[in-house]
Amino acid sequence: MSETTAFEPHVHDPQLKPIGGGKDQPSWELLSTCVHCGLCLNHCPTYKVLGMEMDSPRGRIYQMLQVNEGKMPLASAFVTHIDRCLGCVACEIACPSGVKYGRIVERARAQIEQNYKRPFVQRKLRGFFYNKVIPNFKTLGRVARLTRFYQRSGLQTVARKSGLLKLLGVADLDRLSPQIDREFFFGEIGKVFPAVGDKRGKVAFVAGCINNVAFSHLNRATVNVLTQNGIEVHIPAGQGCCGALHAHAGLRDEARELARHNINIFLGGEYDAIVTNAAGCGSNMKEYDDLLENDPAYLDRAREFKAKMKDVTEYLAAIGLRAPKKKIAQRVAYQDPCHLANAQRIRTQPRELLSAIGCELVELPHSDQCCGSAGVYNVAQNELSMQILERKMEDVTSVSTDMLATANVGCMIQLRAGVEKLGLNLPVKHVMELLDEAYS
Ligand code: SF4
Ligand code: SF4
Repeated sequence: MSETTAFEPHVHDPQLKPIGGGKDQPSWELLSTCVHCGLCLNHCPTYKVLGMEMDSPRGRIYQMLQVNEGKMPLASAFVTHIDRCLGCVACEIACPSGVKYGRIVERARAQIEQNYKRPFVQRKLRGFFYNKVIPNFKTLGRVARLTRFYQRSGLQTVARKSGLLKLLGVADLDRLSPQIDREFFFGEIGKVFPAVGDKRGKVAFVAGCINNVAFSHLNRATVNVLTQNGIEVHIPAGQGCCGALHAHAGLRDEARELARHNINIFLGGEYDAIVTNAAGCGSNMKEYDDLLENDPAYLDRAREFKAKMKDVTEYLAAIGLRAPKKKIAQRVAYQDPCHLANAQRIRTQPRELLSAIGCELVELPHSDQCCGSAGVYNVAQNELSMQILERKMEDVTSVSTDMLATANVGCMIQLRAGVEKLGLNLPVKHVMELLDEAYS
């Protein structure tokens, strides 16, 4: 198949033996829903930037079919095209055939992890990050403290001003490292925050992983908005990373372990809902039933968990906000996080909440197109991510607004990097931070 335009439909041959294999490889049932119409192509950010069929949803599905039937090796070319996918699932929204692309690509990544040996350094870095840092809050805290020392001791300023970061080609990566908090959120885990006024509900709050060390103020803002709206907030002790980054990286066994752990913790209380302020975590936790589909001991509990899982904007819009203490009379352009708009189909609720506190909504062109953040994509695929961000910033600079708002920390980090790169004076806030201002 040509890498540019020509497309020859895949012909399924049931006689051919699959290579690679592995228990998580995308099945023929999932892949065959694609009829190769190509309607998804122009919705795909990587296709739009690279212009290559192999980096489009249709092209990726085609390669998966070829690999599964032994017509293409499960080697570096395949890995490159699958790694370049953001997992933004804009293609799912555009697809008239109902292709479950998000599920498909996560399985293809698992197939890669189970059958392909990545280069040594990549293997070690991935192993350290996914197995040692993210699921272990003590190690996460230590790494965060070291990062804070680099940021606050003047080392970062020296490295930036001396041009060293540019020379090493890591200036964009440096810009993407979030500011580490002085006081982490770990101390709040295990606590209960009472409802203010008449109690209207009781929820369990998912504190996240990076949020604990770099967005603790956002977590506190979320708890405050909930309690101010009459919700009793429990932050269950023992909770861990939700496993979203693992699932997206193809580490499905590790993601399953984390899912089982969280199911045990969060279904232990009588909560009306389990809420998160991170779209990526929420969309992954709503897929626990898919992750545990072959685990009879957990499948029903995963479904129960899924039914309770809510993004905080979804939950608040459903119960209705109390009148805020003050209005936020500012123009706000809202960027839809892919994992909220595409994966969870939550688009109107964040906008409703912003309007309810007095914000004047400015419609951002292509607001549901990925900003290039996508978990750790902006680090792992930095160059491509920055090209996608450039397009997003063209949309941002085309509107007149006082600030940008979004509902996912990954998007906040990415948009802030874009704002800094262009030298704009444009705050980037989470919807919950704006609500918190309105209730404070
Ligand atoms: S729109 Fe759907 S069916 Fe058409 S090529 Fe894309 S994934 Fe396949
Ligand atoms: S998930 Fe996003 S980047 Fe990946 S194929 Fe679909 S539209 Fe393209």
